[in-house]
Amino acid sequence: MENKIITLANRPNGIVESSNFKLEERNIPELEDGQLLIKVEYISLDPAMRGWMNEGTTYIKGVAIGAVMRGFAAGKVVQSKNEDFQKGDYVTGMLGVQTHAISDGKDLSKVDIRAGRLSLHIGVLGMPGMTAYFGLLEKGQPKAGETIFISGAAGIVGSTVGQIAKIRGCKVIGTAGSEKKCEYLIKECNLDAAINYKTQDIADELKKHAPNGVDIFYDNVGGEILDIALANLARGARVVICGAISQYNKPKIQGPSNYMKVVTARGVMNGIIVFDYIDQYPRAVKDIATWLEKGKMQSKEHIKEGIENFPSTLRMLFTGDNFGKLLLKV
Ligand code: NAP
Repeated sequence: MENKIITLANRPNGIVESSNFKLEERNIPELEDGQLLIKVEYISLDPAMRGWMNEGTTYIKGVAIGAVMRGFAAGKVVQSKNEDFQKGDYVTGMLGVQTHAISDGKDLSKVDIRAGRLSLHIGVLGMPGMTAYFGLLEKGQPKAGETIFISGAAGIVGSTVGQIAKIRGCKVIGTAGSEKKCEYLIKECNLDAAINYKTQDIADELKKHAPNGVDIFYDNVGGEILDIALANLARGARVVICGAISQYNKPKIQGPSNYMKVVTARGVMNGIIVFDYIDQYPRAVKDIATWLEKGKMQSKEHIKEGIENFPSTLRMLFTGDNFGKLLLKV
């Protein structure tokens, strides 16, 4: 059996290019005792992949040149010499960008597809959903009646944050990069207002929708939107720094110039790293699965096909061409 893998050929300079990756075929070795073989079904495309392609480290070491590109994925066990996993089990984990993965089972999660189809377990029921849940509820501490502003609101993290905030009784305003995405936020995610950051004056729109300022700012984007949000904080505001996708392709991240507004607002600015909450994932999965089942929440997926299309698919995250949780079906 052959394994098709995507390796990192060289480090990007700016936005990712196809030439940064190489498609290779390798034999799948015989399993050793304790190992299992997984047929990968879905690969998750995540903005963090851009940071992992850098030489330096983010919160996790960069991928080495020539190594399999790091990536979350979901698949099915097809052979097992590990007593904790049976052939036919569905699993998720850092399986890498490849069609087959050999694992010792240590960092794998078994998934119950009765709680939601397999792909959802690397989306709203997986890492991005957990980021939204714990980032909002633990770091944002939302209270009913408060106003929350979310950047990158139509993405998987942003749209999940927005819908949880609505369930918690907040007024929710989000930014997105197209009319279609703004319409989706209002009609399908139940947000109160959506700002097209590419065509509208963000500061004017935010003042209009949040005249008393924002109690929580959940930031996925950084840059100019972060500065505008800081200038509009209500007293006691919580700023949750989740990501800064507008900065990932730049050689140096530009910090906010309005940070002293946190002082004026007597606010807090908090970073979230989802992996800090691994022990608590089961309760978040249960809550989100229940909201999905009851129709209180929905999750949009954008699925492309073929491992060879990984580079062009990854690029979509940075051009805004994805609409929903971006996945590659292999
Ligand atoms: P996503 O939002 O589903 O996809 C990325 C979106 O970012 C694009 O569709 C695009 O939407 C927007 N974007 C791209 N370039 C932009 C720019 N220059 N300015 C403004 N928006 C831009 O991705 P996601 O998986 O939900 O991730 C969202 C954020 O969460 C990222 O910053 C990611 O790094 C972060 N994150 C953090 C953690 C953690 O533990 N801290 C975990 C997971 C994710 P538009 O069409 O709206 O421009």
